[in-house]
Amino acid sequence: LPLIFEPARPVLQKIEDAGFEAYFVGGCVRDTILGDSIHDIDIATSAYPSEIKAIFNRTVDTGIEHGTVMILDHGTGYETTTFRTESGYQDFRRPDKVTFVRSLSEDLKRRDFTINALALKENGEVIDLFNGLDDLKHHLIKAVGDPNERFHEDALRMMRAVRFASKLDFVIAAETLAGIKQNAALLEKIAVERIRVEFEKLLMGQNPVAGLNEFLQTGLYQYCPGLVGKQTELSGLLLLNNWQLRNAEQAWAVIVTQLGLDSRDASKFLRSWKTSNELITNVKKMIPVIQGLRSKKLSPLTFFTAGRNAVQDANQVAKLYGWAIPDEQLMKQYDSLPIKSGKELAVNGGVLINDAGVKPGPLLGKIIKKLTVQVVNGELPNDRETLINEAEKIKKEG
Ligand code: ATP
Ligand code: MG
Repeated sequence: LPLIFEPARPVLQKIEDAGFEAYFVGGCVRDTILGDSIHDIDIATSAYPSEIKAIFNRTVDTGIEHGTVMILDHGTGYETTTFRTESGYQDFRRPDKVTFVRSLSEDLKRRDFTINALALKENGEVIDLFNGLDDLKHHLIKAVGDPNERFHEDALRMMRAVRFASKLDFVIAAETLAGIKQNAALLEKIAVERIRVEFEKLLMGQNPVAGLNEFLQTGLYQYCPGLVGKQTELSGLLLLNNWQLRNAEQAWAVIVTQLGLDSRDASKFLRSWKTSNELITNVKKMIPVIQGLRSKKLSPLTFFTAGRNAVQDANQVAKLYGWAIPDEQLMKQYDSLPIKSGKELAVNGGVLINDAGVKPGPLLGKIIKKLTVQVVNGELPNDRETLINEAEKIKKEG
């Protein structure tokens, strides 16, 4: 048994001692065999959720209707899912109805790709019913069974295929690829939030160009918000190098840049993907920085308005286009700002009202803004007396 599973071995043991079967399954098995790091360990078992809960003292109901219970053991959580089959995929989506079964093979059969349908036993034996080990060795993403049927059952799997192509830098097997081409339009049936998760993972993967190439070739992009008819713009992504996107903000900023969207259109576009407001705000902060890097015209005000994270993220995006400057140099520029936020201004509204005789109202806001810009630009020192004097001057001018 690979070392990484050792801490989890007693959990399997305990389930087996109670008379059930239990295996490590899915991504953790795939990634360990590949020699990649894993982020969590998933377990599949013949025990029903109630039976798991009877065996372990500490569990959390994370998805009990789908058969998933989290077992807590020495500070680690193990998602433990009862063997199940899924039936009645009436609308091309993952069915709500799942049937618990007692056989591992039934469970592995419902999984999407052969490399995701491996199970690992407590003694280190790999259960490989669909030749997943071979496909893993040949870096192939191949549907379990008939691709056409499998994508009909659940259209999200097509996005998962292109996501894994990027994440693992694997090739999609010919028949599976043909199945995606044929069924791409079914993606329309899938909730955009779920498509978004896969698309973001694609962009943050090892080889986004490979994933994007299949995303374009298969026509999947045509069933994604805001991408209809954008083949030309999106194809430009295939020419970019140095992909190393670290978060969703960076991922979306690349797309927004590639589509040439301004701040307003970027908002609209991201809203159509149902991203969070926080992400939209962050991406919008990045746009002027990316454009500033592009035109080599970065003003202190651009830095100030964007903030530290957006500056850093923007440079990561600019790297793809050859517009970036060394991170240390950029951050040094940022750090040399006289003030990093409005809170650091030596005066605030109260001070200006009391000491500069400004009346509360629109003029006050205008004055604060003006002072901020001047301090950020280094035109005025961030000094209380100076700013009060300047405020009085602006007030007189009206
Ligand atoms: P990651 O490292 O990104 O988490 P993963 O393989 O663990 O990769 P998950 O989305 O966490 O991916 O799913 C866990 C497992 O559940 C998969 O390996 C696969 O066996 C199965 N699975 C997930 N989604 C589907 C689906 N839509 N159709 C069929 N099987 C699926
Ligand atoms: Mg996983």
